[in-house]
Amino acid sequence: MSYQKIGLICAMEEEIRLLERDMQAEQTSVIAGRTFYEGVLYGRPVTLVQSRIGKVAAASTATTLLDRFGVDCVIFCGTAGGIAPDLHTGDVVVADKLVQHDFFDGVGWFRIPLLDKSYFETEPVLTEGIRRAVIEYVRDRLKQEIPQAHLDEFRISDPKVVTGTVVTGDQFICDPEKNRWIAEQVDNAKCVEMEGAAVAQICYEFGIPCAVVRVVSDGANDNSNLDFERFVSEAACHFTRGALKAFLENAE
Ligand code: SAH
Repeated sequence: MSYQKIGLICAMEEEIRLLERDMQAEQTSVIAGRTFYEGVLYGRPVTLVQSRIGKVAAASTATTLLDRFGVDCVIFCGTAGGIAPDLHTGDVVVADKLVQHDFFDGVGWFRIPLLDKSYFETEPVLTEGIRRAVIEYVRDRLKQEIPQAHLDEFRISDPKVVTGTVVTGDQFICDPEKNRWIAEQVDNAKCVEMEGAAVAQICYEFGIPCAVVRVVSDGANDNSNLDFERFVSEAACHFTRGALKAFLENAE
């Protein structure tokens, strides 16, 4: 892997906290309310930033990251609601492409005018590297890091790692109807979240490779009694740190 400086984005404070702690920050800049940490994480030069939630927040953060910090790839990590029926809390989706489910141009759904694209692909080699890192983390370290009581609480036993479409929009999806609509309309939809496709679109327009990883927190329907905030701070942050640590340490 020949990336000189990797951009890392998480949406939520609870997710980025462990990375901030592990990072050896050489410089910190605050731009438009976001703190960009430049330094070394697990032996690699990175710029780390919390985007906050939603497409606008994510797109503007990605733009600053690419324009001002000169990163040559972007990795986004976070949580998502499951769309594919075989996905459960703790399973991980590595995006091969992303789409905005709330984009309608007056004629049809998803297609972004002028770019003439609906789906934004991630970079395949980067994505494969991340996929392997997630598998390694889930197999070797997850159960040492997340206390058994939390794994039991969230019913995480043997998480799967799958590749497919990550679906993005400015809504927390907890409606089975909407979930079904996404599953029907989107090619190979795996999970739904609120930032990924916005970041992928910005990276596409800058010509910079990106990857998106999402751990499934909820079922994107109304029968989840999961405490989302607890899941993020007790489990999701470990998936994110573990996957990125395995990825960055293995990278040449
Ligand atoms: N309650 C939180 C907001 C959480 S929004 C607050 O007030 O701060 C949900 C976050 O998790 C987003 O960043 C989104 O990307 C992801 N997410 C997880 N499950 C989701 C779902 N079912 N639908 C949409 N986004 C989801």
